[in-house]
Amino acid sequence: MKVQNVCVLGATGSIGESTLDVISRHPERFKVYALSAYSRIGKLVEQAVSSAAPVVVVPDDEAARSFRSRWPAGRPIPEIRIGAEALVATASDPEVSTVMAAIVGTAGLPAALAAARAGKRVLLANKEALVAAGGLFMQAVRDSGAELLPIDSEHNAIFQCLPEDAERARAPQRPAKGVRRLLLTASGGPFRTTALDALHDVTPEQACAHPNWSMGRKISVDSATMLNKGLEVIEAHWLFAMDADRIEVVIHPQSLVHSMVEYEDGSILAQLGQPDMRTPIAYGLGFPERIDSGVGLFDLARMQKLDFEPPEPERFPCLTLAYEALRAGQSSCISLNAANEVAVDRFLAGRIRYTEIPQIIGECLERLESVSCRPTTLEDVLEHDRHARAVAAELCLLRA
Ligand code: NAD
Ligand code: MG
Repeated sequence: MKVQNVCVLGATGSIGESTLDVISRHPERFKVYALSAYSRIGKLVEQAVSSAAPVVVVPDDEAARSFRSRWPAGRPIPEIRIGAEALVATASDPEVSTVMAAIVGTAGLPAALAAARAGKRVLLANKEALVAAGGLFMQAVRDSGAELLPIDSEHNAIFQCLPEDAERARAPQRPAKGVRRLLLTASGGPFRTTALDALHDVTPEQACAHPNWSMGRKISVDSATMLNKGLEVIEAHWLFAMDADRIEVVIHPQSLVHSMVEYEDGSILAQLGQPDMRTPIAYGLGFPERIDSGVGLFDLARMQKLDFEPPEPERFPCLTLAYEALRAGQSSCISLNAANEVAVDRFLAGRIRYTEIPQIIGECLERLESVSCRPTTLEDVLEHDRHARAVAAELCLLRA
């Protein structure tokens, strides 16, 4: 067995921590080569000590100083690389075989794309990278011969339910044979049954209190608005080469069925499991083998029922906006994602209301409709992203 040298981008986040947990269970299979963090440098020091990572990446000199000052005396200190370019260089470092892309937001795109271009095994949690640059990303996977393993639980479930095929981790040009539809499940988030007129007053803490999953704050808010599911529809479009009208979203409050594939003959294959991201992470790390993730037995007898219901459009306008953006094309997907990142940031900072998030995204999409373009380079994508952020920031200010 060849040891995989792993780079964990966004190591201090929720996915990063779960990744290090799985890796630590298999010292014979995985070595940690590099860890990156943007904040929580104390946490990064702990992780670098326990994983013996030879390289860390931090955002600036201040963070590097903080890392050095916290490093325990008497141990060899890792090489400290600094800044966004260092993230890109580390993701494509010849020493690295596997990259966990777990930075949140478009900030993670350049490094995730660099890993794909360098032909790595890419474990993709950073869905915003595919939403903003799906075409470029999948082309990079095709051109370099990289392996792309979806970590988002829904896409990992779908990947597991697709026909066994040695080429499954390569970018598909067309949908897998015999597949009729993809059924993405969604928990419905913390406000699935809240009175619609009470949504106006919900707080960031309430929005971040997800009923089933423990996640970073941004994705938790996205789960509440279901913009997360919208991003996942776009992600599924790219990962599995499926059109918008063959991807359906169904609410499943127990979060035990992680998603399903419906075949032409009427068969539906589902993947079930506990809502614990270590399962999809272990699947991606071990592929094509199955390895221990640390997740315990699934107690079927205690599972009383599995509910499914359609999402209400009035409760989840962000989901409709995401389908519209996917149908409109790549630049609308960039605008959707960028406007959402800005709106969620302002909501978490207490500057706008929860119900203003879809309003800002919708207005931003409308304003930018006319600048619809087909971004063909990373620079095009980032430029459109910056433009959309500026528009969204202005729309937020008008409301504050
Ligand atoms: P998180 O907020 O817990 O962690 C984010 C990580 O990214 C941290 O290590 C942080 O330091 C780093 N980071 C933040 N801003 C950065 C920047 N500008 N530059 C470089 N690094 C930066 O987030 P998370 O919940 O772990 O989610 C990470 C990604 O995985 C997101 O794209 C999310 O949508 C996706 N995802 C998460 C889950 C989950 O269960 N948490 C499930 C599916 C998909
Ligand atoms: Mg998901």
